[in-house]
Amino acid sequence: MKRFCIYFFIWMLSSSFHSVYGQKEIPKPIIVLDPGHGGSDSGAIGVNGLQEKDVVLKIALEVLRLNKKLFSDTLDIYSTRYNDTLISLRHRTKLVTALKPKVFISIHCNQAGREAAQGIEVYIHKTNKRSEELARLFAAGLNQKLSFKNRGLKYGNFQVLRETTAYPSVLLELGFLSNYEEAEHNEKGSTISGYALLILETLLKLIGNG
Ligand SMILES: [Zn+2]
Repeated sequence: MKRFCIYFFIWMLSSSFHSVYGQKEIPKPIIVLDPGHGGSDSGAIGVNGLQEKDVVLKIALEVLRLNKKLFSDTLDIYSTRYNDTLISLRHRTKLVTALKPKVFISIHCNQAGREAAQGIEVYIHKTNKRSEELARLFAAGLNQKLSFKNRGLKYGNFQVLRETTAYPSVLLELGFLSNYEEAEHNEKGSTISGYALLILETLLKLIGNG
């Protein structure tokens, strides 16, 4: 039921969005997704063996697929990687600088020494005020629509945020792979689609607001 509601909401949102951006004279908003890690860098390893690099790549590819399937490619979305390869942080931010996107989203999963740690975190760079609205929308959406514990908006000095302060840019930590419940949850296709829809919905809300 929840999933149906999200689809319906997205459909409503896309209908109004198309009327503005569907016309040829307005270029499509450019978005850069950055699934973290890749290749020899697996990122966090889940208690169930799940690898962070695989989860985040699946999410990015699902965003691309749903943008096409549900929104007729309304957004012009690029990814820093499309397969299991390691891209340096420098190359990731160079792509952002070259594309000058409306929004940059780095996608990660969390891990902690304490098995009980749960929830989502949204990071922005402290000097980048233009990221705050985007970060708030993500934190609220992940909490209210996907029922994740919200660990709050955080400042992080990650290179991918530090070098993308010219744009609204966030780093999402989507669940703890060190927590059994969240590692299991992140293994499901329905969870991947839920994240992807939430990302698209949030982008459309932000861009639609001007
Ligand atoms: Zn990571």
